[in-house]
Amino acid sequence: MKSIALLLSSAGLFGASSAFAAPDVIVSIKPIHSLVASIMKGVGEPKLIVDGAVSPHTFTMKPSNAKALEGANLVFWVGHGMEAFMEKPLEALASKATVVTLEDAPGLEKLPFREGGAFEAHDHGDHHHDEGENHAGHDDDHDDHDHEGFDTHLWLDPMNAKAMAIEIEKRLVQADPANAAAYQANGAALLKQLDALDGELKATLSPVKDKPFIVFHDAYQYFEHRYDVSVAGSITVSPENMPGAERVGQIHKKVKDLGATCVFAEPQFEPKLIKVVTEGTVARSGTLDPEAATLKAGPNLYFELMRGLAKSMKDCLSKGA
Ligand SMILES: [Zn+2]
Repeated sequence: MKSIALLLSSAGLFGASSAFAAPDVIVSIKPIHSLVASIMKGVGEPKLIVDGAVSPHTFTMKPSNAKALEGANLVFWVGHGMEAFMEKPLEALASKATVVTLEDAPGLEKLPFREGGAFEAHDHGDHHHDEGENHAGHDDDHDDHDHEGFDTHLWLDPMNAKAMAIEIEKRLVQADPANAAAYQANGAALLKQLDALDGELKATLSPVKDKPFIVFHDAYQYFEHRYDVSVAGSITVSPENMPGAERVGQIHKKVKDLGATCVFAEPQFEPKLIKVVTEGTVARSGTLDPEAATLKAGPNLYFELMRGLAKSMKDCLSKGA
């Protein structure tokens, strides 16, 4: 509905002379922005909300972000579970925009949160979740949100990236039919690149498949599922809640007991903790950047992100004897 109104009003406002001008597109986080930027190549550049070396888990909106949302025609985000900070601003500010919630894209594979033992409850700033609550079940008392219950790091499987790319292309074509041919050509090229990336990552990771390792936050289920790597636990599930001494002690024990090969930090979170949990064990440390905090936004970011994860895992896990 909204998108039709948008089309009519932009046709009326701008007339035929600027029919090929790109719509004003805003994207929440870097991995998704990268997919949108690929599909908009040659037409326009989408704006990004969570830019720079920050995590979506600890992000707060700036006035410039609010302003961008006010002017947007089309907004892409994963959804409430990933970018909780955007939920209210979207309602309050993006009144003119068509908001595309990519976690609803057809064809996505969704995995339930995992918890207990090595994995704590996954939170992402959504305080409806309490530790120990069964997210996979549905007897919770928070059914005002029906998108909870699955891990929202959906982009960490190139097949999910393909499902999102198809939805992004479709929505861009709807919002801006004048540039449909460009979106469709770019979209088709992106799907091919994602297939090629998938083959490449499989080849990179198959030699280290069985080596157990520990990650900083539980972001990697989709990656693990796709490439069979052996994540044995996470230090914290919600990066906004740093683990206490007891938790750190448990992880240290886990690293030792498992003979975990590597413990991976993330660039924006305390590397000191990694030192503590690996002390006196055989585990090496490495860094993984699942939300692309260190990467420059743009069409290539998604590929750099995924190759970077595979390379860091392979380098650390295959080192030494
Ligand atoms: Zn995360």
